[in-house]
Amino acid sequence: QQLTDELEATNQGVVALYAELDEKSAQLRAASESKSRFLANVSHELRAPVTAIIGLARLLGDSASDPLTTEQERQVGLIRSSASDLLTLVNELLDLAKAESGRIEPEWSEVDLRAVFGQLRGTLRALPAADGVELVVEEPATPATVRTDEVLLAQVLRNLLHNALKFTTEGEVRLRAERHGDGWRLTVADTGPGIPPELHDRVFEEFYQAPGPTRVGGTGLGLPYARRLVNLLGGTLDLASEPGRGSTFTVWLPADGT
Ligand code: ADP
Repeated sequence: QQLTDELEATNQGVVALYAELDEKSAQLRAASESKSRFLANVSHELRAPVTAIIGLARLLGDSASDPLTTEQERQVGLIRSSASDLLTLVNELLDLAKAESGRIEPEWSEVDLRAVFGQLRGTLRALPAADGVELVVEEPATPATVRTDEVLLAQVLRNLLHNALKFTTEGEVRLRAERHGDGWRLTVADTGPGIPPELHDRVFEEFYQAPGPTRVGGTGLGLPYARRLVNLLGGTLDLASEPGRGSTFTVWLPADGT
């Protein structure tokens, strides 16, 4: 009887503990949602004034009737580039906050990966790449249909390719697709500096930028956002990399979008 009583007491303790955990996790979820909502509102409000600063600085620099001195021109250039960086940060914060607060609804359709790759090949030519770094886009040889959101998928791939081109100083950046399980594996592989294994999780954290000589601009928001989007599309985004051996980011997407 004593054993039964003890068991019963333990049981009740466990039940109470679970209830407490449930409550705590609901509180955490609510706090995280209100953080995302706040971020989305603040970044939205910041966009208009920053855009105005960029426009006005441009006007200042263009005024032909009252030309600026060289020093003033340099200062106006600084205002413009700082405001542009700020706008990039604000836009990325807004995107991430929207994705986190569930305000991005994928528009599902049957998407041919060959078309997405073809478009990316065109738009990425405009990106700055180090001299001699080759961008190779391997379009799938056969029709490769995925049920997904074409715009969000292109955004993810553009983001990964942009990073790869940014960090790679020689060799190549390669985008390819292959069938894998019930879906498609899309890889962006580069011959850049690579990322040590102990940082593989951290690079997906908000604002994290790995230290080192390869630090080149950016906000540290690109990868967390890309992973959010891929998750929204029912897939996963992972990294395989070692210093000196380049990095490979892999997007796995279910063919039927679920
Ligand atoms: P950002 O590129 O704006 O700094 P990201 O979230 O896209 O932010 O990336 C976070 C960090 O991950 C980068 O600052 C960099 O240290 C590392 N990283 C991302 N992609 C690569 C890559 N292809 N090669 C090496 N390091 C990378």
